[in-house]
Amino acid sequence: MRAGAGNTRIAIIGAGWAGLAAAVELCDSGFRPVVFEAAKQPGGRARCVDIHGHPLDNGQHILIGAYRETLRLMKRVGADPERLFHRFPLELEHALAGFRFALPKLGKPLNLALGLFMAKGVPLGEKIAAARFIQDLKRRRFQLAEDCAASVLYDRHALRGRMRRYFWNPICLSALNTPPENASARILVNVLRDSFNGTRSDTDFLLPATDLNTLFPDAAAAFIISKGGALRLAARVESFKQESNGIFIGEERFDHVIIAAAPQHAHSLLKDHAAAEPAASMLSMYAYEPMGTVYAAYPPETGLSAFMRGMECDAPEWIGQWAFDRGRLDGRNRGILSFVLSSSANGWTAYDNDALAARLHLELESVLGRALPKPRWTRVIREHRATLSCRPDIPRPAAKTAIKGLWLAGDHVYAEYPATIEGAVRSGVIAASRIIETRRSS
Ligand SMILES: Cc1cc2nc3c(=O)[nH]c(=O)nc-3n(C[C@H](O)[C@H](O)[C@H](O)COP(=O)(O)OP(=O)(O)OC[C@H]3O[C@@H](n4cnc5c(N)ncnc54)[C@H](O)[C@@H]3O)c2cc1C
Repeated sequence: MRAGAGNTRIAIIGAGWAGLAAAVELCDSGFRPVVFEAAKQPGGRARCVDIHGHPLDNGQHILIGAYRETLRLMKRVGADPERLFHRFPLELEHALAGFRFALPKLGKPLNLALGLFMAKGVPLGEKIAAARFIQDLKRRRFQLAEDCAASVLYDRHALRGRMRRYFWNPICLSALNTPPENASARILVNVLRDSFNGTRSDTDFLLPATDLNTLFPDAAAAFIISKGGALRLAARVESFKQESNGIFIGEERFDHVIIAAAPQHAHSLLKDHAAAEPAASMLSMYAYEPMGTVYAAYPPETGLSAFMRGMECDAPEWIGQWAFDRGRLDGRNRGILSFVLSSSANGWTAYDNDALAARLHLELESVLGRALPKPRWTRVIREHRATLSCRPDIPRPAAKTAIKGLWLAGDHVYAEYPATIEGAVRSGVIAASRIIETRRSS
């Protein structure tokens, strides 16, 4: 144990990916944090959910090769990304619309040039506009002088037609979970920078080959406990008190507390502390975007011909976006397909659960061009506040608060990124390293 680190009392509120990342980093520096989690399991908004005995998730998560900190910490806690992900080059296909874009397994920038050239169902002018757009972003070092809606950025760069409908809009929606008309162009450009401007493998899709808890939260929890830290489940923190000798949660004194809860929960904890008022009022102003996941259990032999299939097309009142073959991804879930619905832009939130499942079943039949058997069961999971709505110029809080020893982490805190797993993990790593620095300099 590093000198004195073990005597510094640290609490982390929230065992989502941000809180767990902070705890793992702190354990690595000899601290023994106590993690308080309101739920009965760690993982937060990226967690495993048992449905009829199947290890499924609260929502399909897609990671990309550029998620460096997530991959580093997974390795650190013994969760091997090579084994736990299916990795493949970026590919977006919406068969019903006759659209396909795939990055070939070539080095940069040839892969992008060839990917655009080979894109199916796209007029040449739209391919040229896309190539010019990426070149222009590179010239500007992926910096925008001012923020605006992603749709305005697209207009400025003449990104129109089918490429916009089936490539640029879905990229914005899946990366920011915010429709392009409302989404921050600056944050979108940050995502494009880290995927298209890094190494070729940064653009790779990483789809979990297991449930979300096995991917990181459970291994992180075991690591924290093995290093002398603690994880207290079903332990909601209702409030904290600031005293001259530290921060108190109930009767327990801590030198540092990291609030690693979603913005609305962090707000509840901060709102009664006058010193934290600026951060609390910032969080109270956020808007949120929903996400929906519909699971349908077909006979085990039913599947898609790929891990994921794009469902978009121009038919009126169409709601399908992406379908995933959960059995192909993870053999424990054979025959189970899932439908992922981002944001509320296409009106899926107006359907009740049975109507939503029935509608997606019919739409998938159209995409596949064949009839499907009736599902044995369906389950709809609606996350009403899946992520903050990533709008232009929204203020994001700093890790350090005005209260001595109180820090913030969570996907909303990492200002460069939309609300994602990588943003959450990075925010946790930053909060932990600030505490480690404070300890070193004291
Ligand atoms: C359906 C869905 C799909 C998504 N898809 C993707 C994707 O494809 N790719 C991607 O990168 N991201 C995706 N995301 C976003 C990603 O899941 C989140 O950005 C990330 O999980 C947020 O982690 P976090 O630790 O910041 O917050 P959270 O996961 O919200 O963790 C906070 C934790 O704090 C606990 N807590 C709150 N208040 C208290 C309290 N008072 N006391 C104790 N504990 C408390 C909560 O129970 C929770 O466990 C998706 C999210 C959803 C919901």
